[in-house]
Amino acid sequence: MIIISGTETRKKLLEDYKKTIEKENLDIGLSIIQVGDNPSSNTYIRNKLKYTTEVGIKSELIKLDEDVSEEKVIKLIKKLNKDPKVTGIILQSPLPAHIDFTKCARLISDEKDVDGFSEENLFSIRDNNEKIIPCTVKGILRLFEAYDINLEGKNVVVIGRSNIVGRPLADALINRNATVTLCHSKTKDMKEHTKRADIVVSAVGKPKLITKGMVKKDFIGIDVGINVVNGKLVGDFAKNTYEKASFITPVPGGVGPMTVAMIIDNLIELKRK
Ligand code: NAD
Repeated sequence: MIIISGTETRKKLLEDYKKTIEKENLDIGLSIIQVGDNPSSNTYIRNKLKYTTEVGIKSELIKLDEDVSEEKVIKLIKKLNKDPKVTGIILQSPLPAHIDFTKCARLISDEKDVDGFSEENLFSIRDNNEKIIPCTVKGILRLFEAYDINLEGKNVVVIGRSNIVGRPLADALINRNATVTLCHSKTKDMKEHTKRADIVVSAVGKPKLITKGMVKKDFIGIDVGINVVNGKLVGDFAKNTYEKASFITPVPGGVGPMTVAMIIDNLIELKRK
């Protein structure tokens, strides 16, 4: 069984990004908008600032008060859209309930959409004409590449149908000639699907959702879930699935580190355009 290390893969990628940015003299600016003071967001943002800065990107955090109006957030996005120093914009989720995340995120111009959430970018995956791919999805694809995992003809079960992970990942896997089944909260007898899968991706956020009896021998497991159990970070796969896996991504240290690396990847792509 091989543990797929997102941490190691990211380390190599970051060295490459740093060299590319220096060599091509890319002047990249990233603006992250945060509303309020969500503790998980604080951790994610700290990492985004750290890794982007390390490779030579000029990153800034614009922190707005919890009770800021939606109108003000929209105004800020429009201003950043026009700012030539800003290559990419991230609207950190979650937002307070009075602000519509999808509506605001979709106002980020396609040319600055680091997260790949704009209608055009999401549709480009559906259309098999991929532009900016959402970071977690791109990170998973890079892990398959880094570990020489061929997707063609593979039976892949993706669990979770969110617009940021499950759906775009299913589309991207179809583009790479996998046979994809998408499961979600209303799927009946998920085991019937997972048992036949060469690759199981879980993007749900439920500890022990996938257990040993649900997977076949030598399956490949991609664990996107992030859960805190007794103060420890765990994924969606129970530990006993590891003994049946040929490859598996751990939590922490699997998909998570790749998501932040792909922010840089997407920024370089946006800048080159
Ligand atoms: P979401 O809440 O938007 O979507 C969860 C999905 O799971 C839904 O589509 C739902 O239908 C499905 N679901 C819920 N219960 C289910 C069940 N019992 N069986 C099958 N499907 C079920 O979440 P999201 O934003 O897509 O994130 C999913 C998980 O991935 C979360 O734990 C999140 O923290 C994590 N995540 C990790 C990264 C990373 O970089 N590692 C990035 C994004 C999200």
